[in-house]
Amino acid sequence: AQQLPQPSQRRIMTVANQKGGVGKTTSTVNLAAALAIHGLKVLVIDLDPQGNASTALGVEHRSGTPSIYEVLIGEISVSDAAAVSSQSDNLFCVPATIDLAGAEIELVSMPNREGRLKEALSPEALDELRPDYVFIDCPPSLGLLTVNALVAAREVLIPIQCEYYALEGLGQLLRNIELVQAHLNPSLDVSTILLTMYDGRTKLADQVTSEVRAHFGDHVLKTVIPRSVKVSEAPGFGQTVLAYDPGSRGAMSYLDAGRELAIRGTQMEQT
Ligand code: ADP
Ligand code: MG
Repeated sequence: AQQLPQPSQRRIMTVANQKGGVGKTTSTVNLAAALAIHGLKVLVIDLDPQGNASTALGVEHRSGTPSIYEVLIGEISVSDAAAVSSQSDNLFCVPATIDLAGAEIELVSMPNREGRLKEALSPEALDELRPDYVFIDCPPSLGLLTVNALVAAREVLIPIQCEYYALEGLGQLLRNIELVQAHLNPSLDVSTILLTMYDGRTKLADQVTSEVRAHFGDHVLKTVIPRSVKVSEAPGFGQTVLAYDPGSRGAMSYLDAGRELAIRGTQMEQT
């Protein structure tokens, strides 16, 4: 595959939306795979106790597996917990096990409770893995795990489902991001909006698309991810759609979105 530009600085992107089922995990793993196919080194942090990103990347996440939980409580490092995905030698994942379910509460009483993931992803901590991209797949809530993800990242990617109520709840997410910017991470930037599960047969999908573009302007990727059965089938085989059915529309659209993301990154560097 043709190479994509390597960012001059590592890009750490949090994939967030407190709504469940909007395509956070699907977009995380497939964008990660798209960049890895083009020769970039990518690390996915699974920050959802459900462990769906770990599943889709073919990475073990039974309870007891070294995971993001042990990283957050300071027992092990990210490189100790990172496993290579079944899809590509360039693609790594720090899995989430069900142990993470209690972390939200456990973290409350810990020192630096909002900054623990940032610390775990410091340049020194990543010196062994040296990923070009880090994607953090958030749980569907705005709790302490998502706050950790927003503090650790430079960029936020918000997937928006082309559906009823797509924009509902987004205000709350954006306000939380503003709070994090004001108090914990001034350099955080909502750099990317990705429209997902677009169904061209419905008028509604187009309405949502124009509404989102009107609101977020050129933060919205030109590539729109279509609703496709292949995309939803792939995780059942422990695969991204890029591995499961590389020629499918779903796979092609995530390849396009990955390319756009990488190219926009280098344009952002120049401005
Ligand atoms: P989230 O992580 O935001 O909860 P997921 O990525 O898990 O959302 O997606 C929710 C559900 O929708 C999953 O069953 C997933 O397989 C399915 N899905 C996601 N994107 C698509 C798509 N483009 N086409 C069809 N199904 C999709
Ligand atoms: Mg998810």
